[in-house]
Amino acid sequence: MKKRVVVIGGGAAGFFSAINLAEKCPELEIILLEKTQKLLAKVKVSGGGRCNVTHDCLEFHKLVKNYPRGEKELKNVFSQFAVKETIEWFYSRGVELKIEEDGRMFPVTNSSQTIIDCLMKEVEKRGIKIWLGCDVKKIAKTETGFELETSGETIATDFVIITCGGFPKWSSYNFIAATGHKIVEPLPSLFTINLNKDPITELMGVSVKEAEVKIAGEKLSYKGPVLITHWGFSGPAVLKLSAFAAKIFHDKEYKADILINWAGADNEDEVRNEIQKCISEKASSLPVNTNIFYFPARLWNYLLLRSEIDLKKSWSEQNRRALNKLINNLFSDVYSMDGKTTFKEEFVTCGGISLDEVNMRTMESKLVPGLFFAGEVLNVDGITGGFNFQAAWSTAYVVAKTISEKPGA
Ligand SMILES: Cc1cc2nc3c(=O)[nH]c(=O)nc-3n(C[C@H](O)[C@H](O)[C@H](O)COP(=O)(O)OP(=O)(O)OC[C@H]3O[C@@H](n4cnc5c(N)ncnc54)[C@H](O)[C@@H]3O)c2cc1C
Repeated sequence: MKKRVVVIGGGAAGFFSAINLAEKCPELEIILLEKTQKLLAKVKVSGGGRCNVTHDCLEFHKLVKNYPRGEKELKNVFSQFAVKETIEWFYSRGVELKIEEDGRMFPVTNSSQTIIDCLMKEVEKRGIKIWLGCDVKKIAKTETGFELETSGETIATDFVIITCGGFPKWSSYNFIAATGHKIVEPLPSLFTINLNKDPITELMGVSVKEAEVKIAGEKLSYKGPVLITHWGFSGPAVLKLSAFAAKIFHDKEYKADILINWAGADNEDEVRNEIQKCISEKASSLPVNTNIFYFPARLWNYLLLRSEIDLKKSWSEQNRRALNKLINNLFSDVYSMDGKTTFKEEFVTCGGISLDEVNMRTMESKLVPGLFFAGEVLNVDGITGGFNFQAAWSTAYVVAKTISEKPGA
């Protein structure tokens, strides 16, 4: 009799594990269950409708650095299937990817539909069965395999692959927790900082290429572009901080002092020296005309005023207090965070299935043989830039490889 594999979830990880498994083991009966009426819904809206499939980062020891949760464990996964393999996988199926300036990779068509069409074509070609509107409620281990209780019929199967994505609520993981697996508290990752009508928001649209952001009193800090929005701060450095400090922000209820090092300097003395240089070399110039750090003019003006620099006086005429304040604001400007905003609706879950109980070389449960996990359901998440899909493709591929090597598969 044909062995059966049931995949729970019709997203990126579900499709990728089903397709690769069907390709390796055409004898298997593969059924993909999706609780909604829509397949690949997140792929469709991802990357603003363009689908940021992966990131141009070919060395897997560098790739793992982009995962606040999973950095150590993903090495085992990426050593088997990572960015190069993803690019080749799609290329060999007629989908060419292009690299953008910041390293993000998209289909050359600039449309997520290209990825969906490719995955749908593979599913049809390999005879994978898809059952829509089938919500899995319970997974029970039997003597020979599993029995799945769903919103429809009960399904018996030899192997189960859980690819049901992340959920914002703990209770949504109940049907998985019932298998004995520990769930790490799900929390949001990837968000921007709200400032509650702080005057700096009047500079919306202004960005600085290399600033540094941190939470006051915490060690984590990230350098990179910072964008001022009409509600607060965004940009790669802010998103990276939100991901790596997801738990810290949560514990502080998204209220914290945020320090911005606009100058991107390594220490305050570096900034002080630049100001001293101005005072001695450009003594008669007006500060407003001496934009030392090449900031957008509106920001420089704002920082001078915030520091009580007299705009009508030259550098040599400024008082010491204002100059010290300017140095401080350039290196460690403080803003009160008051809440968060999801980045372009790109909600990503920090938390999920604890990695301690999953063999990250095979993606098989250490507690329940025959049960596998892939994608965002795991306590793995990446920063923005294509890293979340990469984790989904890679973990899904490893599941397929492992099952294909099981006796009788
Ligand atoms: C708006 C948005 C944009 C994004 N853009 C990008 C991007 O450009 N690049 C990137 O790398 N990442 C992006 N992400 C993150 C990325 O989409 C996810 O990390 C990725 O889709 C996870 O894939 P998955 O298959 O694990 O889960 P999902 O895509 O969430 O799929 C899980 C599926 O399982 C189904 N399901 C859940 N429970 C059950 C059940 N009990 N029974 C049956 N079915 C069930 C769900 O309905 C869903 O269809 C974006 C996310 C969002 C929300």
